[in-house]
Order: sequence, then C-alpha cells, then structure tokens
Amino acid sequence: MDPEISPTENKVIDSHLHVQAETIDRCLRVMDENHIRYGMNIGIGGENFQKFQKAYQPHKDRLGMMYIFEWGKWQEDPDYVNRAPDLLEAAVEQGAHGVKIWKNLGLTVKDPQGNLVSIDDERLLPIWQRAQDIGCLVAFHTVDPVAFFEPWNSDNERWEELELHPDWSFADRSVYPPRDEVLDQRNNVIKAFPDLKFQCVHGANFSENLDVVDQWMDQMPNMYVDTSARLGEFGRHPASAGKAFFEKHQDRLMFGTDRIFGKEGDVQGAGPTKIFSREEDQWFYNTHWRYFQTEDKQFDHPTPIQGNWKIDGIGLSTDALNKLYWDNAFKLYGLGQYGVA
Ligand SMILES: [Zn+2]
Repeated sequence: MDPEISPTENKVIDSHLHVQAETIDRCLRVMDENHIRYGMNIGIGGENFQKFQKAYQPHKDRLGMMYIFEWGKWQEDPDYVNRAPDLLEAAVEQGAHGVKIWKNLGLTVKDPQGNLVSIDDERLLPIWQRAQDIGCLVAFHTVDPVAFFEPWNSDNERWEELELHPDWSFADRSVYPPRDEVLDQRNNVIKAFPDLKFQCVHGANFSENLDVVDQWMDQMPNMYVDTSARLGEFGRHPASAGKAFFEKHQDRLMFGTDRIFGKEGDVQGAGPTKIFSREEDQWFYNTHWRYFQTEDKQFDHPTPIQGNWKIDGIGLSTDALNKLYWDNAFKLYGLGQYGVA
C-alpha cells in the first residue's frame, strides 16, 4: 500500500479509546505518531476515574473522559440507582463529557432482587433525564457482535475471538435475552429523549447490517455512531454500500478505534494484549486510513481476530472524511473550549 496515505489535514479525533492514569504517556506518544490529536477515554469508573481525572489535567487539549457507573454496587445498595443521577452530575462537574453505558446493562446487570434490568427500565429514567438536563452525552455499548449470540462452536466465525474471551459468548438463551430485544431497549431510550445526544459505539452494535443502522439513523436524529473495532465488519459490505452509508450519514459518524492503553498492555481494537511496536501501531492506524480514503481492494482489516476475510476501501469524499475524522466529534464533545486543534 501507499506509505504516504495519511488523514486529510493530518488530524484526527479518536472518539473511542481507553487509557488509564498510568498509561497516558504511552497513549499520547502513539497518538502523536499516528495523526491522532485528541482521544476520548470512553468509560472509566470508580478509583480509576478519580486517578485519571487528576492525571489528565495537563492534557485536556489531547484527552477527554466519560464516566461509567458501577452497577455491581446496586446489588448491595438498593439506593445506588437513586443516587446515580447525582453521581453522574458530580462526574460531569469533574470534567466528564458524558456517561458510557456498557454492555453489562441489558445482558447481566441485576437489581437487588436479582432480576435482570432492561435498559429502558423506568428506574433508570431519572439518569437519562438528568443527562438531558445538564447537557451530558450518553454513549451506549449495547450487546455485542451477532456471532457472540450464536452457538459457540467451530462453525462460529468468531470462534478464535471467543476462545480468547469465553465470557463474550451470550448464546445461552436460558441466561441472556435475545440480542434484538436489548437493542430495542436502547433505542426506546434514544427515542424517549430526543434532546439528549447518544454516541452508539461499535457501529451502533450492528455493523453487520448497514440497512438497519441506516434506518435507525433516519429514525433517530440524536443517534451518533462511532466506527471503533468494526472496520472489519464495515469493510465486509460491498464498497459501494459502505460508501453510500458513510456519505449519507456523514454528519453523525465518528472515527474511533477502541485502542486500549492498559496497565497490563495494549489492545488494538480486538485481539491480544501486548505492547505493540511502532510499526505494528502504524499498520493498525494506516489500515483505517486505507479503508476510508482509498478504493484499494482485498486487504487485511485492522482486527484480524474478528474473522478471516479481506476488505475493500470506500474512498470517501473530502467532506465526509473531514467530518468523520474531526468535525463531528469536535462539535459533539464541544472541544472548542479546550483548545483542541
Ligand atoms: Zn471500547
């Protein structure tokens, strides 16, 4: 591939990465080496939130953060859910751009009586209401890839990934609700709070079916979608369909990688935890640029563990690229006030 390929205007916001107080330096170095001017630390809770909140102060022009609830506490403390709106507001006062609602809500989070809690449970309504009142963004990572809800055997196309993460299988219908039902619960909340903005991560958790995501984005003008850890899935569609989707929704799609900068090592969207060489990192980011900016055919996608297929580039227009890489996240996160440039 052309080694010269790089993002338009040479600057990108990664709307979906993970970083800890202890890994900020490594994160900033990798960002610097790969055109990433700003990264959203999407979802950090408990002690790690407090530590990160202190550590990232000198880097507010490079990094932002979103709060994450500790739903496990609801089990021991029935009042946790009632305190949640205040916890959220306190996190926003400490700098959080929003709250990330992880996949455990809808799949495993239980109330103190031991009942599975649905995302549109009325006990959670005050949380969304408060977020709307204080202008706080909500990021939803709801369910997981289609394959994780299908029987876990050697016919499953994500067999290799499930081997690495057995706890990512939600195929057991006696334990987990159907995938579509949980996505409907998420969409019910998005529709009920039209003035609240939602970042639906991982291609709104249905990049396997662009027609459905297209309909959702038509129905819900407050739904924003990030591309993190789903280039393999996006790239599986015919390039013409991928291009049509990214051009049509160019005002609400945001670049993201799901790059994890962890204390035990890093993850490139999906796959093993390790420390990557500079070349490995450049390959990872370059593959993203190649997908969005070229019409190259049949190249490896950035997260090979997700499945053994090749992707075709979609060669987006300059307008769509600038919005995807920068403008949409810049506006959604209100980055003008942080000196991000
Ligand atoms: Zn993530």
